[in-house]
Amino acid sequence: MAATSEGKAEGRRCNGRPWDGIADELWSDWRWQFRNRIRSLKKLSAVLERPVASLAAWSPVIRAYPFAVTPYYLSLLDPADPVDPLRRQCFPDPREIDPAAAGSEDPLDEEGAMPVPGLVHRYPDRCLVIATGVCALYCRHCNRKRMWRRKEPGGTRERLQTMVDYIARTPQLREVIVSGGDPLLLSERLLDWFLGALRAIPHVEVLRIGSRAPVTLPMRVTPGLCAMLQRHRPLWLNTQFNHPRELTPEAAAACERLLMAGIPVSNQSVLLKGINDDYETMRALLYGLERISVRPYYLFQCDPVRGTDHFRAEIWNGMGIMERLWRNLSGLCLPRYVLDCPGGRGKIPLQPISLLPEGEAGKHSFDKTGRMD
Ligand code: SF4
Repeated sequence: MAATSEGKAEGRRCNGRPWDGIADELWSDWRWQFRNRIRSLKKLSAVLERPVASLAAWSPVIRAYPFAVTPYYLSLLDPADPVDPLRRQCFPDPREIDPAAAGSEDPLDEEGAMPVPGLVHRYPDRCLVIATGVCALYCRHCNRKRMWRRKEPGGTRERLQTMVDYIARTPQLREVIVSGGDPLLLSERLLDWFLGALRAIPHVEVLRIGSRAPVTLPMRVTPGLCAMLQRHRPLWLNTQFNHPRELTPEAAAACERLLMAGIPVSNQSVLLKGINDDYETMRALLYGLERISVRPYYLFQCDPVRGTDHFRAEIWNGMGIMERLWRNLSGLCLPRYVLDCPGGRGKIPLQPISLLPEGEAGKHSFDKTGRMD
């Protein structure tokens, strides 16, 4: 959308992007951000100031795994730098469709643990609901990118009602994790109804939302949304900051609005090779999260999803980083480094190597699925 048609002269600059001069009120409107996501190579070529033909190698990638990035997130990255840690999280990469790529489309076997479509029931006392397949930004390392490939249906009341019915007739479920896609992209009315229907089930004690909106579309966390979520407490929100540059004033303000509504915000980073798999970057991220009162909860070893090998850091490297963090940072800053076992066998903590006998660390290696030799 051309800035001249909607923007005002004193509006925001966007590092030479198509939105130079856009009015602040539009920039801060999550619907405008969502509508103006870059989703095609044609639009991306304009941002990069390169001919569309020069991006031809990305065409089959985004046919297999769609591409979308919000103007806001795009404004944080350097589109011309192929190793920019934010660019790498959202720009396509031909390695995603390498026919020789290892791994599985569904390494945690979520599809095999669905008693009703979209509901994963693996642990006795809690379940995970895939409420929608839509995200503001498609993270290239996502462990559910198979859903974009199959064009998973969006959240509908009928589909969500089926999940509510299953949860109501399963009394051992005390916690429901509402995830996606991004559940904060459901209409406020539908999400309000869904959370209310879950809350009305006597054995459901706790609700949890998984959303990357505070990172990729922080303007979505409006006062109205927070007021609605507040009505469904106890409700926890987990998000995914992966790099300190994502901790912007806008993101901090979104988290603050949630916290002020009584919704604890925790963070689940993914350890990503070349993005945050070094001590200094991880320390800056954890210090930054502590400053904005977001509790570091998990640091995930990147799942062996097919086509994401280039994101997967060595487990020993991750354990070495955790070792230094344990020695130097306060406990409030420390996430648990975990591996989600392939095949859905649950999470295992990856302890700092100081807990192993001296000299043991260098004797072992891990294969792509996290198995130690
Ligand atoms: S926001 Fe979450 S579900 Fe959506 S693409 Fe990113 S990691 Fe995957």
